[in-house]
Amino acid sequence: MKKGKILITEDEEIVARVNKRMVTSLGYEVVGIVSNGEDAIKFVKAQKPDLILMDINLSGAMNGIEAAAIINREYDVPIIFLTAYSDDKTISEAIESGPYGYISKPFELTTLRITLDLSLSKSKTERKLRESELWWKSSIDSIDQGIITVTIDGGITYLNSAAEKILGYRLNECIGMNYLDIYKVYKSVPNELFICAMHDSQNNPDELLNSKWFIDRHNKHIPIEETISDIKDGKGNFLGKVIIIKDISQKRESQVEVVAARNFYISLLDDFPVPVWRANADGYFNYFNKTWLNLTGRILEQEISFGWMDLIHGEDRETFQNLFRKSFEKEERFEYEFRLLNNEKEYSWILAVGTPFYELNKKFAGFIFAGLDLSKKKVLEKELRTAINKAEQASSAKSNFISNMSHEIRTPLNGIVGLTELLFDTELNPEQLQYLEMVKQSTDVLLSLLNNLLNQSKMEVGKEFLHESVFVLTDILNEIWNPISVQASLKNIIAERKWEHNFGRKIIGDKVKIQQIVLNLLTNALKFTEAGKIELIIINENEIEMSETKTTLLNLHIIVKDTGIGIPIDQHERIFESFTQVDSSSTKKYAGVGLGLCIVKNLVDLFNGKIWFESKPGFGSEFHVLLILKYAIEETSGELVSI
Ligand code: ADP
Repeated sequence: MKKGKILITEDEEIVARVNKRMVTSLGYEVVGIVSNGEDAIKFVKAQKPDLILMDINLSGAMNGIEAAAIINREYDVPIIFLTAYSDDKTISEAIESGPYGYISKPFELTTLRITLDLSLSKSKTERKLRESELWWKSSIDSIDQGIITVTIDGGITYLNSAAEKILGYRLNECIGMNYLDIYKVYKSVPNELFICAMHDSQNNPDELLNSKWFIDRHNKHIPIEETISDIKDGKGNFLGKVIIIKDISQKRESQVEVVAARNFYISLLDDFPVPVWRANADGYFNYFNKTWLNLTGRILEQEISFGWMDLIHGEDRETFQNLFRKSFEKEERFEYEFRLLNNEKEYSWILAVGTPFYELNKKFAGFIFAGLDLSKKKVLEKELRTAINKAEQASSAKSNFISNMSHEIRTPLNGIVGLTELLFDTELNPEQLQYLEMVKQSTDVLLSLLNNLLNQSKMEVGKEFLHESVFVLTDILNEIWNPISVQASLKNIIAERKWEHNFGRKIIGDKVKIQQIVLNLLTNALKFTEAGKIELIIINENEIEMSETKTTLLNLHIIVKDTGIGIPIDQHERIFESFTQVDSSSTKKYAGVGLGLCIVKNLVDLFNGKIWFESKPGFGSEFHVLLILKYAIEETSGELVSI
C-alpha cells in the first residue's frame, strides 16, 4: 500500500520527472504534476492530495508561496517547499505561508524521505487533534450549564455557549480579560430580591445561604448555582480553574410561586373563623390555627403532638381517640362531637370533621380537621328541650283536666238523659212533649260534644288503644247510617249508601272506632251541605293472604262525599289540627268546636291507616279513609275466633 498521495508542482519538466521518480521510490504515489500555482489550486480542489511538493519559483502569475498561502487557508493540505532560493527574504516569506517543510535543491533522497514522512505524520496528528477539539467543543457547547476556564491568574481561556448566554459576553470579546471583570457574584441577596429570598428561607434556609446572585452585563441579578474546580496537568501542576455555573431563575420563580401559594393557604387557614388542626402521616398533630389557639388560650407548643388531647373532656377522650384511630387506619372521613376545655375554663361543644389529605403522588399525608363550635346550638337545644317538656307537661295537664271535667260533666248529664227518657213514659201534654223533645236534642248534642272532648284528650295523652271484637261491617255501619239518613231527609238532602262489594264476612277490629270515623265524616258532610246529596261508599280494594297467621287482610276503602260548601284550598293543610274551623263565624252557623277531623285522623293513625280528602269550595268534599282490617277465622264449629 502507498504511503500517501503526492502532488508535484514544478515548472521544469525534467526536474518534475526526477522528483516523481524519487518520491515514487520512497513508496509514495504521485497523483499529479502541475506547472503553476493556479493549476495546483484547481488540482487540490478536485482531488485533495495528502501532500504537495511545491516549487517556489513557478511559471504562472502566482508563485509557489502565494499558491501555498491560498491552499493552506482553504484546503488544509500540507505543503513542502522545494527550492533553490536560499535568500532570507524568500525563506521568511515561505515560512509565513505555513508550510510543513522546506527542502533546498539539490537534496538527497534521505532528506526527502525524512521531510515527507514527518510532514505527513504531523499533518495526520494535527487533523486528529482538530477533529477531537471540534468534538469536544461541540459537546461542551451542548451542555446547558455555563463553563468558563481561566488561567492561574484568572485570564479567561474559554467560555461555552451557555456561559456566553449567562454572562452576556462572546468568547472572542473575553479572551485576555480577567474573569472577575465580567463574572460579578454576590453572596448576599440584593435588596429588591430580599422578600423572595425570605420566602425561600422558610422553604429551605440552607439553600438560601448557599445561593449566589450574579450580575450580568445589563446589571440584571440572576440567581445561580456555581461549582469551581482546579485544572491540573498529568503531574498535578495547577494550570487554572474551571467554573461551572447554572442559571436557576426558573427554579427560583417556581419556588417563589410555591412559597406564595403555601403562604396563601397558611394565612387562609390561620385566620379561618373555625378551629383547624392537622395530623401528619404518623398521626402526630403538628398544626393548630390561630382560631384554635384563641379558643383554648394556649400556645402552639402546648398543643402539638398530643398535648391538645388533655383539653378533651374525660368522658369524650377515649371515644375520640378510638374513632380517630379507626378513621386514620382506613383513611376515612372522621366526625365526632366532643367537649373541649376553652380559655374560660369551660367546655365548648365542638363538632370535629376530619378528612385525610394526600401528597401529589397520592401518598397519604395525614388528616386535617375543622371544628364547629356547637356550644350556642347546644344551649339552644337545651332551652328548646326544656320548653318542649314544659309545653308537653302543660298540654298533658290540660288534656287530663278536660278528661276529668268531661267525666264530671257526663255524670250529671247522664242523669238528665236518663230522667228525660223516663219522662217520655209519663203522661205529658203536647206542649210538655215538645219541650221534652228539645231537652233531649240538646242533651244529645252536649253528650256527643263531651264524648269528642274526652276522646281527644285520651288520644293526646296516648291513652287510647284499639279494642278488638268480631263483627259484620255492614251491621255496624247500618247502625250509624240509619239516624244520619233520617236527619238528611229532614234537611231535604239525598243520602245514598253504596256497598261496592259483599261485606257479609266477619271482621276483627275495633268496631266502635270504625263507627266513630265514619260517623264524624258523615256528620260533617251533612252539617256542611245545604242541598244536594251525601254519599257513603265502601270498597274492598284488595285482600292479602297472610300465610304465617293463616289470616286474610282486608284493605277497606271508605269514601264520604257531599255536595256542600267545600273547604278552601288554603285550609287544606290545617284541617286535621285540633280546634280548627275554616271560618270561626261558621261556629255560629254550624255547630261544632273543630275536634271531629282531628279525632278521625288520630283514630285512622291508631289503625295505621291513611286519610286524605279532595274538596273544592262551592262544589263539595270527598273524604277517603283506608283501613287494613282482618277477617275472622271461621272454626268448623261455626265459632269465630280472634287472632
Ligand atoms: P267541627 O266540629 O267544627 O265540624 P271538624 O274538625 O270536624 O270540626 O271540622 C273542622 C272544620 O273543617 C269545620 O269547622 C269545617 O270548616 C271544615 N269541614 C269539615 N268537614 C267538612 C265538609 N264535609 N265540608 C265542608 N267543610 C268541612
